[in-house]
Amino acid sequence: TKHFPVRGRLRDLFSRTPAVVHAVDDVSFALRRGRVTALVGESGSGKSTVARLLAQLHPRTAGDIRLHGTSTRVRGGRRFRAYVRRVQLILQDPFASLNPVHTVRHHLTRPLRIHGNAGRGGEELERALTDLLTRVNLTPPERYLDAFPHELSGGQRQRVAIARALGADPEVLLADEPVSMLDVSIRLGVLNLLQDLKQRLDLAILYITHDIASARYFADETIVMYAGRMVEGGDSETVTQAPAHPYTRLLTGSAPDPERIVGAVGGADASRADRGGGEPPSLIKPPAGCRFHPRCPQAMRRCATDLPPRLTIDESGHWAACWLFDAATVAADPPGSAAA
Ligand code: SF4
Ligand code: MG
Repeated sequence: TKHFPVRGRLRDLFSRTPAVVHAVDDVSFALRRGRVTALVGESGSGKSTVARLLAQLHPRTAGDIRLHGTSTRVRGGRRFRAYVRRVQLILQDPFASLNPVHTVRHHLTRPLRIHGNAGRGGEELERALTDLLTRVNLTPPERYLDAFPHELSGGQRQRVAIARALGADPEVLLADEPVSMLDVSIRLGVLNLLQDLKQRLDLAILYITHDIASARYFADETIVMYAGRMVEGGDSETVTQAPAHPYTRLLTGSAPDPERIVGAVGGADASRADRGGGEPPSLIKPPAGCRFHPRCPQAMRRCATDLPPRLTIDESGHWAACWLFDAATVAADPPGSAAA
């Protein structure tokens, strides 16, 4: 859970109780090596905050983040440092994340040194650098080592950012919209590289995206977030092809032909997809009950007051946080009876 305090004028509007933005509430999931988990949601749904929490860039408001069962509640210390090395973040904009005055060599040498993977320097360092560039298919490595970021294409820069993350010898990659700033024509290449690294290095990857169609193509498991909460999860094929939660159905229903999008990776846009169905709520005063209820065509009376728990849909692990999957609720109050 992560709540940000609200300062300044916005705060005055809600001055009775100290105002907070409920950016992330009760988000809980497991990443596993050799698997990609997609976290899908529109902008403002809290997915980037989840990535920053997992990268330990923000302290959390409540809850814990564990690596192999080991808590990271205590910041600093040996366990915390081990975690920070093992869990690496890749950002959306490779141009912003690389320093324009430094070469590729400089960007890659630092993590190798910091994390003790540079060998004894000299030839060993050179071999480690060459290995990193080869792993991300920037070959021949000599051509890229002394280049500056502006001399590379967007796709090449993102590959350098991935190589830099690999320099720490991670177990987990957190990839926050890793291809959304890239030309559509090269997105697939970068996603395929991540897929390949997942297999070869047995990485756990968290793939954050607003593009639910790419989650089907790229992720083993998909989790959908709405207004700071997880609303649906399961294997990607099921969540994208047979979505259960009304919000996920809204996202997928407005996407153009999925087969076509899989070819191009990058069409079904969560931020565009749901314009037709209203706006996401304020996270300063999120709606009570189900946060989607003001927009939900199937809302029942209970939805406005009671937070729906995660309800199991089938044995495959598919679940949705929605009262539609509670037989007693549906029997008492027909779906849609409380819709706006
Ligand atoms: Fe939320 Fe109720 Fe709609 Fe389910 S039916 S998404 S619980 S408002
Ligand atoms: Mg974001």
